[in-house]
Amino acid sequence: MKTYLLYGAKDIRLSEKSVPIPGDDQVLIKPKFTGICGSDVHYFQHGYCGNFIPKRPFALGHEFAGVVDSIGANVIGLKVGDEVAVDPSMPCGSCKHCKSGHYNLCLSMRYFGSASCDPHMDGAMGQYLVVPATNCYVLPVGISMAQASLLEPLSVAMHAVKQVDRIAGTSILITGGGPIGQLILRVVRAFGAHDVTVSDVSEFARAFSLKSGANKVVNPLEENAWKYYDGFDIVFEASGAPSALANGIQVTRRGGSVVLVGTLPESFSIPGNLIMNKELKLYGSFRFANVFEDAMNLVAAGIINLDGLVTDTFNFDDIPQAMQHALNKNGVMKVQIEL
Ligand SMILES: [Zn+2]
Ligand SMILES: [Zn+2]
Repeated sequence: MKTYLLYGAKDIRLSEKSVPIPGDDQVLIKPKFTGICGSDVHYFQHGYCGNFIPKRPFALGHEFAGVVDSIGANVIGLKVGDEVAVDPSMPCGSCKHCKSGHYNLCLSMRYFGSASCDPHMDGAMGQYLVVPATNCYVLPVGISMAQASLLEPLSVAMHAVKQVDRIAGTSILITGGGPIGQLILRVVRAFGAHDVTVSDVSEFARAFSLKSGANKVVNPLEENAWKYYDGFDIVFEASGAPSALANGIQVTRRGGSVVLVGTLPESFSIPGNLIMNKELKLYGSFRFANVFEDAMNLVAAGIINLDGLVTDTFNFDDIPQAMQHALNKNGVMKVQIEL
């Protein structure tokens, strides 16, 4: 089989390896669609992603859906030819985080297409991969394979939204109009937020947000950008920019909530006294737990709309060009590979 391996910054090479054989509780998947995530772009641009530094070449791609090609001896509920979405999380299942249901916090988590675990797990930028049968969800009527490969980032957005207890009727600010910000926008819309504002420095992201159902958009670089804004019930920080978090803290209402889902720098200063005297609640949100199937069903039922998020689709042979294209901030929202 052919697979693309990341060797370092801007260095992705087509490689040959033998098709893996599924164990008793595993299935062999032929991926059909793989999305390029912000973290994939980081790996491609720098050769590493935050503190995940690859020790050897590996295949990217953790946002994927595909077809079951063969199944292990003990697998029930799946058959060859099934179209499935794959949850890329493989927690240990036995630590205190796993046992309390917060498996996204598992310290022994293995994740497809990630150098966060050793040995690294090859992702779906290859022709086949073996996955645990329990990570596969047969697609219901109403969701396509291309949409199913958006379920991982949608799950990240849903997990962020689930940090706060009520969305219906609230006013919300999302700082950062990239794919995760756009997905949070669609989730809070579906859950009944009454007023949603998106801030982003990019004109493209702001226009995209208005098309996706935002009531207002803000360019934080404009003078007095926040003059008419205060009192948001909830702020979702999805940009990773310290200044966006600082703005968000300023414009959250007293007693409101701020959810951090963007990847921020290791340390920087924040308006701490405001958090204290406005009694703000700060939540961190990392990957997701227990929402993947809900996300799939909400899309299939038409409650969460994913239309238009994929702006560019490339073929398997053009994966290096697709990665390069995904570096563009302007005009590109989500890049997908059709395998
Ligand atoms: Zn992702
Ligand atoms: Zn665990």
